[in-house]
Amino acid sequence: MKTVLISGAGIAGPALGFWLRRFGFAPTIVEIAPGPRPGGQTVDLRGVSRVVTERMGLMPAVAERQVRERGLAYVRADGRTAATMHMEALDGAGPVAEIEILRGDLAELLTAAASDVEFRYGDSIEALEQDADGVEVSFASGTQRRFDLVIGADGVHSRVRRLAFGPEEEFVQHLGGYTSYFTIETPENLDDWMKIYTAPGGRWVALRPDRDPRYAKALLSFRSPILSYDRRDVDAQKRLVRERYEGLGWHTPQVLKGLDAADDFYLDTTSKVVVPEWSRGRVALVGDAGYCGSPMAGHGTALSIVGAYVLAGELAAAAGDHTQAFPAYQRRMQAYVAQRMELPPGGIKMAMPMSAFGIAYRDFVLRVMTSKPMSGALKKMAGGKPDAIDLPDYSVERRDPVRVATEEAE
Ligand SMILES: Cc1cc2nc3c(=O)[nH]c(=O)nc-3n(C[C@H](O)[C@H](O)[C@H](O)COP(=O)(O)OP(=O)(O)OC[C@H]3O[C@@H](n4cnc5c(N)ncnc54)[C@H](O)[C@@H]3O)c2cc1C
Repeated sequence: MKTVLISGAGIAGPALGFWLRRFGFAPTIVEIAPGPRPGGQTVDLRGVSRVVTERMGLMPAVAERQVRERGLAYVRADGRTAATMHMEALDGAGPVAEIEILRGDLAELLTAAASDVEFRYGDSIEALEQDADGVEVSFASGTQRRFDLVIGADGVHSRVRRLAFGPEEEFVQHLGGYTSYFTIETPENLDDWMKIYTAPGGRWVALRPDRDPRYAKALLSFRSPILSYDRRDVDAQKRLVRERYEGLGWHTPQVLKGLDAADDFYLDTTSKVVVPEWSRGRVALVGDAGYCGSPMAGHGTALSIVGAYVLAGELAAAAGDHTQAFPAYQRRMQAYVAQRMELPPGGIKMAMPMSAFGIAYRDFVLRVMTSKPMSGALKKMAGGKPDAIDLPDYSVERRDPVRVATEEAE
């Protein structure tokens, strides 16, 4: 039984742990946070990520927690709607998809599904040393342990990537913004819409529905060059966000009040992660650690869930031989990853204009694009391209001899 250390218990980590366990490996997940991290807004399951979720047997639980979202609406400072995009305008291939679930709920479901995996919360990898037969790992807690393989599923700022591949600057491209997410008491009935107020200076104040109608998921996103702050100091991060929003309209005062009280606050850069090769010897990357188009591109959850499945599946197909499995995982995923890392037309400049004129122009363009005469062209242009991956059914092709023999005997 091969031992696999996974760093990070977000989305990719538990999904990988689940599949590795089923394919006969012995995974351990180490997570730096003291327990499961609850935060985040709705994320979507579409295309092949939905297929993988079905194969995990999680669709009934996802359906129970599904959040209904009708689309997104740009609103003005006084709350009046300036432009809308209904989910169906892009056949569910736009920012809002048919199946939306809170990121925290999805992380919880994946973690519960991987309950037969060993979790080590409140610890992290301090050092890695590879040799011909394994990887010697030193943990921040002071312990040391040897594993056959180590996988970085520790997000955009992956420590595994830093230790085994090189400094963050080589792989992470800042796209010129930051986004914070947190939960607040809702200042209005959102009626299943994601509402976005854009203030000059490239600042978004957005609200998305929560599962509980008393609350809303707030998002404060702003354009900015790289900022220097302590990623563990939440109060300093809240101050950094707050100072950019004082005096703005719409529900900004209520959102800032909620920001002060929030216990699920999360802030990160709008960054792209491009790593040319996703493995170095016995160490590989999955999810945002290895490939991420940024929240602007979306699809981070889908890529993580599918990436975890393909990585585990290829390891199973190669009977644990990472020299075959890691390149096969990359070959299988590469085109799909490139496809889903593409930014929407105009990127951050179009979505978050700096001037009042730019905001009015963006809203005008959206109104034209979503008008009746243009709706067919819009769907053709942006909607429904199938995922660029041929997804094998590893549960059939897997090479775990004990499990296959048991199933055949049954
Ligand atoms: C709290 C939170 C809220 C989020 N909210 C949203 C959202 O609302 N919308 C959205 O689009 N995306 C959100 N994301 C990002 C989104 O989850 C990812 O883009 C995507 O799902 C890919 O998942 P991942 O597992 O690769 O990375 P992540 O979900 O970022 O998970 C990485 C995990 O690794 C852990 N970690 C980091 N460093 C270490 C270390 N040194 N050792 C051990 N563990 C480590 C982190 O604590 C985290 O649990 C959020 C991420 C987090 C952590």
